[in-house]
Amino acid sequence: LPGLYIVATPIGNLGDLSDRARAILSAADVVACEDTRVTGKLLHLSGIKRPLLRHDDHADDRARAALIERMGSQVVVLVSDAGTPLISDPGYRLVRDARAAGRMVTSIPGACAAVTALTMAGLPTDRFLFAGFLPAKAGARAGVIAELAAVPATLVFYESGPRLPTALLALAEGLGDREAAVCRELTKLHEECVTGTLSSLASHYATPPKGEIVIVIAPPGAPVIEEASEESIDAALIAALAD
Ligand code: SAM
Repeated sequence: LPGLYIVATPIGNLGDLSDRARAILSAADVVACEDTRVTGKLLHLSGIKRPLLRHDDHADDRARAALIERMGSQVVVLVSDAGTPLISDPGYRLVRDARAAGRMVTSIPGACAAVTALTMAGLPTDRFLFAGFLPAKAGARAGVIAELAAVPATLVFYESGPRLPTALLALAEGLGDREAAVCRELTKLHEECVTGTLSSLASHYATPPKGEIVIVIAPPGAPVIEEASEESIDAALIAALAD
């Protein structure tokens, strides 16, 4: 069927490319992607050879209109470098305009780093807010964090290794020392998920780690899981008896 197919690709483990994703990619008249080298490599490793076209949200209106025209008679697939397109990745304008033009639009689900991290962090998942990347500049970053501080939901951020230490310190400062998880290199050989308070994570990652990262943070007011030491129990008892 002609139209626009949003296809999720792996976030590190090639085994996560679904059978449906493979089938749609193999049937594509054109695969619109962020970087033809990255997607070319994925298709090559999967034994698929289809025409690639670079496309992102900065593409001019004419390039987008041409792609939408093709969707009338052809199978147009949109992928990003990794994971689910549109999630901190290009595609929103293409989907918006394809819908406005009455094209068939569908999505083939698969890997997404945010959801993968949420499922392994051990923090509440009943309500979460995906906040994407924090701004690089300190002032703008503090502003965004302040906006999110009162949101009664688990917060999910994307981050890069080099920026992790600064981000964790800024988050501890702006949100308070909440429980959190740093999920790194998901689905890859060196996958890790380190949990603790934001300040303990900032100490743990004082040296910037390598790789791709998702930060998951508990909602405000969620109890901080702390091992009660004998001294702290004694101190609490003394304080209670003194009252
Ligand atoms: N669309 C992608 C998705 O569905 O997850 C996200 C694209 S965004 C440009 C890239 C960011 O996603 C990385 O900087 C990192 O924060 C996160 N990410 C992607 N792959 C990851 C992985 N394997 N482990 C941890 N984080 C990952």
